[in-house]
Amino acid sequence: MTRLIFLGPPGAGKGTQAKVLSENCNVPHISTGDILRAAVKAKTELGQKAEGYMSAGKLVPDDLILDLVRERLGQEDTANGWLLDGFPRTVEQAEFLNKLLDEIGQSCEFVINLEVPDDVLVSRMLERGRADDKEEVIRTRLDVYRKETEPLIAFYRGRQQLKSVDGNQLMDAVSEALQKIVTCDISD
Ligand code: ADP
Repeated sequence: MTRLIFLGPPGAGKGTQAKVLSENCNVPHISTGDILRAAVKAKTELGQKAEGYMSAGKLVPDDLILDLVRERLGQEDTANGWLLDGFPRTVEQAEFLNKLLDEIGQSCEFVINLEVPDDVLVSRMLERGRADDKEEVIRTRLDVYRKETEPLIAFYRGRQQLKSVDGNQLMDAVSEALQKIVTCDISD
């Protein structure tokens, strides 16, 4: 069973690595950022509500996120596991997730913390050039990360679930390091 949470600052490569690992382990890659971007693109009610926060680099309010995660983790394709990327992002979200997993009789195996120095993060995001990858917005996202998300490292370390991986290596080397942590069988 592969149930993993990907932590790490914006630009750390969570999305890229979670995608590779989800394919290898044959479990869905659940990215709240991707779900929100798709909603913005499709101009759904969620997308319209979330757009302003996202383009400013701020967190989307929990009332838009929590139900979405509950609903997604209730879908059939999660029966063999899941990789969460971009959620939880605050201690409150982590507490919500703990309760939700309890309710549905699941537990998370590992929390993977991808570590990358700030200067590398900024240059990666500037190169990527997503809609929210403008210098000013990047600064806000990094501030939000330090204030809201970084405390999760201590939260999960305290629960003995944290594994740190050096994200400042070539993509394949990071993938390999992750694969070593995860017990999923990649032979099939
Ligand atoms: P990154 O981690 O590279 O900044 P994401 O794709 O994970 O990018 O998130 C992009 C944006 O989507 C965030 O800046 C935020 O506005 C919103 N978002 C994604 N996940 C969450 C979440 N769990 N809680 C609140 N907002 C979120």
